[in-house]
Amino acid sequence: MARNGTSRRPGWLAAVGPCVSAVCGHPGFIENSIFVSSVQAVAASAQLRAIRQAAYQDVRVFRGLEQVRRTTQDRRRMLETIADQLGDLELELSYSDEGSAGRMLQRLDPCRATPVEPRGRRDSALKGHNPTDQLSTARTGVAVPPEYVRRNRMRIGDLHLHPISDGTFIARPQYFGNHLAPQSRPELFSRHQAAWLPIGCFLVRASDRLVLIDAGLGPELRELPYGMHLVGGQLLTGLRALRVTTTDITDVICSHFHSDHVGWLFDLDANPIFPRATIWFGTADWPHFVTGTGDMLTHIREGLRTPAHAPRIRPIDHDTTIAPGITALPAPGHTPGHICIVISSGHQRALLLGDAITCPIQLDEPSWHSMADVDPALAGRTRQRLWRELEDERTTGAGAHFPELQFGRVLPGTARRWFT
Ligand SMILES: [Zn+2]
Repeated sequence: MARNGTSRRPGWLAAVGPCVSAVCGHPGFIENSIFVSSVQAVAASAQLRAIRQAAYQDVRVFRGLEQVRRTTQDRRRMLETIADQLGDLELELSYSDEGSAGRMLQRLDPCRATPVEPRGRRDSALKGHNPTDQLSTARTGVAVPPEYVRRNRMRIGDLHLHPISDGTFIARPQYFGNHLAPQSRPELFSRHQAAWLPIGCFLVRASDRLVLIDAGLGPELRELPYGMHLVGGQLLTGLRALRVTTTDITDVICSHFHSDHVGWLFDLDANPIFPRATIWFGTADWPHFVTGTGDMLTHIREGLRTPAHAPRIRPIDHDTTIAPGITALPAPGHTPGHICIVISSGHQRALLLGDAITCPIQLDEPSWHSMADVDPALAGRTRQRLWRELEDERTTGAGAHFPELQFGRVLPGTARRWFT
């Protein structure tokens, strides 16, 4: 039974409470976001400081979140439960990450974290469970249950494919068009008329290459119109659960340059997070986002434009084999250079759709587009082409925001339907 965190740790709760309120914005915005802000608040707090063991952080704290999910009836109770769960951990200030982590934290956290001292190698945070070598909460934001990441994998012939979510996209009906009523499709918009969708990334092991498809939002919280939000930060934790370090990644393929697909490419100093990786993307996204006016965070744009990084920047404007069994195909419309990625081995294929299709429900709802489509008409034609590809019984597909990152295909016929 949960103890009362308020009475045991009043200072802690006092420190966390305003952070949670300020970062979360409104009471309905819980789970990932409250957890991000709670962990960041812990890191910001002079009393409790950073978490001693990354293993604790990943497993125990997530269990705490599960309990919050089950038991929380109101905001105060939620804070007390988090305080109780986290308060049991022995916390001390031991930031192990580079200085950028502290600056990220400062930017994200209204409590103003103390800048951290650079220590160790850039990727030291991913090396294991040593207390001085831990994964920084500031960089990862929130814990992912490692057992979930390891279990949630699939095989395509000889290739292993691991879906990893960097966080949550809280979408409302307006994202799919102003013609939608707030009560539309309650099975999708099941949480106070919002859909809680993942920010999907995929890791593929292909011979000696380790390829990351999409790079999440990064440790950011972004507000969107109509009360929608993006909250990221989990990707590196998910990779670590797979025993993958940032230096292991050989290639990052960005389906497109929207912020929730490029967030972990560079840190706030525009240094690569994946220092050995080649970055692949659709050529036409460059003039739109990097040299044009498309929305892109400054440090990501700077990182892409840094001349020293140029040898690892690879635009694609036609079907391109990136690694054995991994091919990128142009699928424009959502953005000018949007690409889809085909993973194939033997007779099996997986089609990673990026944001060309946001949600399988669009199969039944052809009038649903995406608010972020740069060219809605072209995006609509691309969607129809991709649905037809997914009628192939050897092909399975998933988009970056498909619920639970679950793969499926289209059952053809007079009444096509989505089958998982
Ligand atoms: Zn997206």
